[in-house]
Amino acid sequence: MKRAMFQLDQKDMPNHWYNILPDLPEPLPAVLHPGTGNPVTPDDLAPLFPMGLIMQEFSPEQYIEIPEEVQEIYRIWRPTNLHRAYALEKALDTPAKIFYKYEGTSPAGSHKPNTAVAQAYYNKKEGTKRIATETGAGQWGSSMAFGCALFGIECKVYMVKISYQQKPYRRLMMNTWGATCVASPSTDTKAGRDMLAKDPDCPGSLGLAISEAVEDAAGRDDTHYSLGSVLNHVLLHQTIIGQEAMMQMEMADAYPDIIVGCVGGGSNFAGMYLPFVKDKINGKKPDLRIINVEPESCPTLTKGLYAYDFGDVAGMTPLLKMFTLGHDFMPPPVHAGGLRYHGMAPIICHLHKLGLVEARAVPQMATFEAGIQFARTEGIISAPETNHAIRATIDEALKCRESGESKTILLAHSGHGHFDLAAYDAYLSGKLVDYAYPEEKVKEALANLPKVANQ
Ligand SMILES: *Cc1c(COP(=O)(O)O)cnc(C)c1O
Repeated sequence: MKRAMFQLDQKDMPNHWYNILPDLPEPLPAVLHPGTGNPVTPDDLAPLFPMGLIMQEFSPEQYIEIPEEVQEIYRIWRPTNLHRAYALEKALDTPAKIFYKYEGTSPAGSHKPNTAVAQAYYNKKEGTKRIATETGAGQWGSSMAFGCALFGIECKVYMVKISYQQKPYRRLMMNTWGATCVASPSTDTKAGRDMLAKDPDCPGSLGLAISEAVEDAAGRDDTHYSLGSVLNHVLLHQTIIGQEAMMQMEMADAYPDIIVGCVGGGSNFAGMYLPFVKDKINGKKPDLRIINVEPESCPTLTKGLYAYDFGDVAGMTPLLKMFTLGHDFMPPPVHAGGLRYHGMAPIICHLHKLGLVEARAVPQMATFEAGIQFARTEGIISAPETNHAIRATIDEALKCRESGESKTILLAHSGHGHFDLAAYDAYLSGKLVDYAYPEEKVKEALANLPKVANQ
């Protein structure tokens, strides 16, 4: 079986991140202050983030230099490789050419360290001693623990209690990198104590863990808050993926017709496609298709409403204009923990509204079927999140088999699934089921959107 991998030299690693903001055909809607309803100012965000990151959030610069210290750490695993999936193509008997860029070789096993390292750097530079953050299944918490360890910053992670109890391995990674991890709701914050008083057995939620981490950071001078997806600066840091992929596709003498990836908050996939969207906007590749894949159980882009909403359950964060299922949306317990967020990166939502990208929801069972076919051909056991993207990639390749077209498909592969084998066990032993989020429930959650003038 033919195999091919496209490797960049370390000296060819991009030394700038790409910022889409100045290239957007229409400006991104403003972020609003939850109290006044006015656009937020950098000063409003200063208690939570270092100024270096706040400036990136609103930057008009097309390219932003990656600091040398961050580049040095990226070189532990970057540039990541691009592969041609010859074996998968053969198994599907498709004329399509499938390429995938694999982010699973980072120390934490996904794309998330690309931003964790950058965020730790800007915090360190401005004297932050301690970072508070939240995590669901532990992917973000472990990435931030890694970033903080390398810059000597104390790290406190509020981990959703049910995952804290059921998924010990990513918690142990956090401890190994020196972070403190507590189950949320915890007794360390008012938000946590209030919830425990109401319901001592509360299993926790990502929204509540965000409220705890934000309260922790806002209440201490030595501490900042950190978010692993959704915000513009997080997507910016991930654009190293797409810039590398562009060079590697050139090495392969190819350019994608279709780019496919999974979206939770949207950071890994936006990081892949934002440099390509530029080609679509400026007319270099106007017919490029970009498919954002999400679970049927959390159908943010396909069933949500485009409106201003909070980023957390408690309503403490600024208001973001995004496709949302409502900030009090309670996600069903599907295995792709990283894809269970009620909102979506405002940049992705804006591009979707402008018709520059498309969205698709896929059922859980079919994603594991696709992930297993990928493992048995390409070898990699993928994260359940990534399996969503693999499903849509295979479906597009099968359409090519029907039509006889030889399209070039580029898959954003966000990480490995070595800590998610319990989910594979559930699938292989026939215990997994599909769950599509009911339309009535979407309506219910959307009834509680914050009231904003000019919504
Ligand atoms: C966290 C995570 C995701 C989802 O997050 P995005 O911000 O949408 O990229 C996807 N894949 C993996 C492997 C993850 O860990």
